[in-house]
Amino acid sequence: MSKVKKIVSFFLLILVVFGLSGCKGDSVANENIAERLETEPVITWGVKYDTRLFGMMNIETRVVEGFDIDIAKAITKEILGDEGRAEFVEVTSKTRIPLLKNGNIDGIIATMTITSERLEQVDFSDIYFDAGQSLLVEKGSHIDSVENLTADDTILVVKGSTSAINIREHAPEANILELENYAEAFTALQSGQGDAMTTDNAILLGMASENDNYGLVGGTFTTEPYGIAINKGQEDFLNEVDGALRKMHDNGTYDKIYDKWFPNESVGKAAKGAKFND
Ligand code: GLU
Repeated sequence: MSKVKKIVSFFLLILVVFGLSGCKGDSVANENIAERLETEPVITWGVKYDTRLFGMMNIETRVVEGFDIDIAKAITKEILGDEGRAEFVEVTSKTRIPLLKNGNIDGIIATMTITSERLEQVDFSDIYFDAGQSLLVEKGSHIDSVENLTADDTILVVKGSTSAINIREHAPEANILELENYAEAFTALQSGQGDAMTTDNAILLGMASENDNYGLVGGTFTTEPYGIAINKGQEDFLNEVDGALRKMHDNGTYDKIYDKWFPNESVGKAAKGAKFND
């Protein structure tokens, strides 16, 4: 290679390297969401598609429905006005943080408990729902509380959930079988692959309402305050989300959505501006 060619190749290489690192800086995961929303009024939310009452795909209408979905739509409207659009991407308990970190979604509204461990990876909004972990069993089951689970019992949980961690602390003897998502876990319970299923009471209530043969037992043995997860470094967007939630408490939207999904329950209603404290 001639000297001139070598010099030209060297400068081309520098250009490519800087060009690529420039792209990385502007990648979706690093962009300022609040700024993007000024020109592009669409917020992409990660939501559950298989969790009755919170985020469930209606197979007839192909529309996802639930408390989390209505909260997402109302927040989008508060932030962007009537022109704004909420888009939904399916997440599971296991995939939600990676999808947020990769920039595939702007926020997670998916029955997600705020915990100190998760706060090391993502930021959370004010608490928007208060759940607690419980057990779902077939009626007539020998299990009536977390305390009497033994090495003969198999408990079904979902990967990536706090429930999977908590049950190991509360029932160290029990066998734990981990499934990918809530639809699979409930199917496993119905087909006798486990003696009980455990997760948040509000999620289990949705399953019990689907099948009379199953019921919750033993009350709750943890607290599970739900928050909306936003990537770190998105303080402006996080403030917009918290501002929207507070407005929804003031103007009655929050109560309306709550009453729509939990008309006969006293579970879960969160107070305006409720903060997580460890
Ligand atoms: N709220 C619990 C959690 O965040 C259980 C529900 C879920 O898996 O999304 O892990």
